[in-house]
Amino acid sequence: MGSAPKHGFLNGNLSASKKFFVAGPCSVESEEQMLRTAMQLSAYEVTLIRGGVWKPRTRPGSFEGVGDKGLVWLKQAGNAVGLPVATEAANPTHVEACLRAGVDVLWIGARTTTSPFAVQEIADALRGVDIPVMIKNPMNPDIELWIGAIERIHKAGTTKIILVHRGFSTYGETLYRNQPIWRIPIELRRRLPHLPLICDPSHICGKQRLVMAVAQQAIDLLFDGLMIEVHCAPRSALSDSGQQMTPAQYGRVIRKLHYVSSSGPTQLPDVIKLLRKEIDAIDDNLIALLAKRMECVERIGIWKRNENVSLFQPERWEQILQDRIQASLKRHLSGSFVRNLFEQIHEEALNIQGRVRAGRSSSSRNREVGAFTAEHFENDRNGSRALDVAELDLRGQWENCPPPSLERQHACVAGIGLD
Ligand code: PEP
Ligand code: MN
Repeated sequence: MGSAPKHGFLNGNLSASKKFFVAGPCSVESEEQMLRTAMQLSAYEVTLIRGGVWKPRTRPGSFEGVGDKGLVWLKQAGNAVGLPVATEAANPTHVEACLRAGVDVLWIGARTTTSPFAVQEIADALRGVDIPVMIKNPMNPDIELWIGAIERIHKAGTTKIILVHRGFSTYGETLYRNQPIWRIPIELRRRLPHLPLICDPSHICGKQRLVMAVAQQAIDLLFDGLMIEVHCAPRSALSDSGQQMTPAQYGRVIRKLHYVSSSGPTQLPDVIKLLRKEIDAIDDNLIALLAKRMECVERIGIWKRNENVSLFQPERWEQILQDRIQASLKRHLSGSFVRNLFEQIHEEALNIQGRVRAGRSSSSRNREVGAFTAEHFENDRNGSRALDVAELDLRGQWENCPPPSLERQHACVAGIGLD
């Protein structure tokens, strides 16, 4: 490794240190740009300087990085300010070039983490080296794929691994360039509590103006640090110009961050204890209600099987979705939250009815329910008319309730409501 790294983590001890801040440009563009950015950054709290030299671009023809010579500029800039440097390595040739140039830390990018073949080749190139490696999440929200990459690098003998949450790619116009889906890094932390986990709000946001809020959200969720894209002249950056900030802006973000403690005071205030009790009771009720709802679903499933009716009823589903979203908005719940919730409930309902159809229902009440349902619908045929989905009035439902606007999503940025 190159010049003596100063940060505790690089000597094998992140937990003894404070937050871990990685900052620097998306791409190393020139000797001057790299040096200027590092010099300006060194006025603020930074642990590690970043800069990509081989850039994974979605489409060919855009700037693909300056290649090997960028490693020299990156390392020079780090030496000038006495900080270690990091770059992305996507194959064994990159790993070897980085080791030759004295790069202190490598990172595996999101596109690479998505491919077990590519990660394994990098792991093989890392055997016997033990350079610190940051592993970004894969492009798609697949926690097992992320863990698989971590295991491959760990098995190669790498003892210093940092995980980087940079969001998950999506389709269509959304507030974020990459969806944060916070429950995935939260679950990762639960499963791998000993590994440091940092957040890359720049790649999550895709827009510089959103970075502060997401950085704060990550700190509130007890991430161990941040990776932020910083460029001495963001507007003329050759890659990701919209999401990069100036060193001075970076300094403001770091200064404004508000830190929280995971434990809170040893003695909880009475009001918090009461609220937590109330939440426990509400959750119990929610589970009981869900179980009751699924019982109804199962009964309907028996009717569908007996009458040879499709499990999925598009009109009924559309009506449920519209109705629940309208109701939730009246109660100031986020429409997208309720939509996701009911999509999950509906999926489980279809699974249950699928098992009923296949004769795999695990429920002991199945026979009893079957008898009830047969009788109920016998009555139905004889006169009463329940559950006729064709009669639902669906006119204009979608027009009345479009998906939540970007502004509304934005308004939700700060509140993800973990208790
Ligand atoms: C980057 O950090 O510049 C980069 C390309 O990141 P990701 O792999 O997260 O897209
Ligand atoms: Mn970038």
